Amino acid sequence: MKLDILGCSGGIGKGLKTTTFLVDDTLLLDAGTGVESLTLEQMLQIRTVLITHAHVDHITGLPLMLATIFDQHQAPIDVYALPEVIDALQTHIFNWVIWPDYTCLPEANPILRLHTLSVGDTLQLENKSVEVLPAEHPTPTVGYLLSNATTSFAFSGDNGINEQLWPILSDRRPDLLIIDVSFTDDVDELARLSGHLTPSHLAEELSHFSHDCPIMITHLKPGFESEIMERCQTLLPNRNIRRLVHGSLQLPLR
Ligand SMILES: [Zn+2]
Ligand SMILES: [Zn+2]
Repeated sequence: MKLDILGCSGGIGKGLKTTTFLVDDTLLLDAGTGVESLTLEQMLQIRTVLITHAHVDHITGLPLMLATIFDQHQAPIDVYALPEVIDALQTHIFNWVIWPDYTCLPEANPILRLHTLSVGDTLQLENKSVEVLPAEHPTPTVGYLLSNATTSFAFSGDNGINEQLWPILSDRRPDLLIIDVSFTDDVDELARLSGHLTPSHLAEELSHFSHDCPIMITHLKPGFESEIMERCQTLLPNRNIRRLVHGSLQLPLR
């Protein structure tokens, strides 16, 4: 499975883009500002978009991408998310005020199809199995576990302390875990309130995760990346922990 990391920051700025992962060229996992790294030809290949939640750093690329490919798209784009997220997209984005409603454009063959899913669902999409994982965040949010015949990876979504997640991941044993550690230990309360982890939270959370796989940290707050990563590595010297960065990964990792 090919995983192109187009955005993995908790903010924007030169060289920083928000959560956007492209899987096997055709499936987008969140649609943050990383979408702007794609060429027109690459955007035209995308068939499926999985959204973790409605926060703007995870969806802002979707309306802009639809407008960009509107004249040339060959087939509709299928977007999957929780019902609350689909509702938010329809009410607040594709409402003819912020952006056109692409679920009825063009009339004969709309470019956007919206689908709901639930935590615990397993969907078969593009020769991949997609399991919907529970996430802890102030707005309805999920993570995803993507598997094909040979490999798998889990993405926590934006996620704080979450005891439901670890029995599932310990059972599924993914080849890679991408997990949100947005904040430093100094702002423990802010992290708890905003539904993100700190390095200390991660260490506690991973004590419930028996499986040993590479762990990549995402959604780091700009300016605090080094501090967060050093603390993670200090607290978890026996884990294979790296910072997620832009670029292409081939799974399973070698
Ligand atoms: Zn969020
Ligand atoms: Zn976010």
